[in-house]
Amino acid sequence: MDYLSNNVAVNLKRFRQYRGMSLDQMAERTGVSKSMLAQIERGQANPSIGVLCKITVGLQIEFEDLIQTPKVMDSPEGSTPGARPSIKAVIFDIDNTLYSYDKNHIYGMKALTDYCESAFGKSAEETLACYKKAGQIMIDRIGGDVAAIHNRLLRTQGMLELWEKPVFPHARNMYHAYWDTLIRQSQPVPGVIDFLKELKKRGVRTGTGTDMTAYIQYKKLESLGAAPYIDFMVSSEEAGVEKPHPHLFEICVEKSGVQAVECAFIGDNYKKDVEGACNSGLRGIWYTQEQEPEHETDYPIIRSFTEVDIDHFLK
Ligand SMILES: [Mg+2]
Repeated sequence: MDYLSNNVAVNLKRFRQYRGMSLDQMAERTGVSKSMLAQIERGQANPSIGVLCKITVGLQIEFEDLIQTPKVMDSPEGSTPGARPSIKAVIFDIDNTLYSYDKNHIYGMKALTDYCESAFGKSAEETLACYKKAGQIMIDRIGGDVAAIHNRLLRTQGMLELWEKPVFPHARNMYHAYWDTLIRQSQPVPGVIDFLKELKKRGVRTGTGTDMTAYIQYKKLESLGAAPYIDFMVSSEEAGVEKPHPHLFEICVEKSGVQAVECAFIGDNYKKDVEGACNSGLRGIWYTQEQEPEHETDYPIIRSFTEVDIDHFLK
């Protein structure tokens, strides 16, 4: 790859990631095909002047911005081999990253439907429909992407209001039926506790960055056995915004005590965790929950924590 193609490859990928765009979105904006853009980003194509012009016009950037030598520290990925600082902090999303929320939510909902059946004679279908409706009402009332939209006490309160049943003692009982069951059933995902132990052994700072109310996340980490290996907690309740808002990632970096580029952020949600972290200058890593990734990506992937070569990971 000649130096100009290399510059274009690095700069183009940075522009795209900084703006949180997919290759499809960039193709639409520039009129250059997705496969051509992917090849350019990988340094496998020598784009013509015409193609470069289409890109600069579509992205509204200067030609100079595209061909100049990339600044190493500006890059979320630090693209020059050997020049990137090593990872000194690792921050984890919690739900579907440290344990399977999706799987254990089912157990929580079963406990909730059982409670509503014995307390009010409601069928499971009625409870599920009411849970859904109460969720929509609370989201509309709250009016934004903040941690309160996840608060199950507000949700069970809303269900009781819809059913015109007393909130005392049922709202809190329903809350506990759901969360206590979900948390009791949840296990750490394969390898993640050993991974955390290794990080601590090597003096790496560890934290969480999660979209949820703080208290319940503390309970989860304690129950999962992850708490002894976590140095700091950041939640969207504390940040006032949810991922991928940069403010939450800024707090993560602040608590890590190191530079953003020295922080790895691992999560299952591609947009929130991976692109969100990268757009804030951290190194986003996609955890694909023991599965093959759902789509192509240029970001690093952890398929299973059991497969991570920790020395390589920290470089
Ligand atoms: Mg998650």
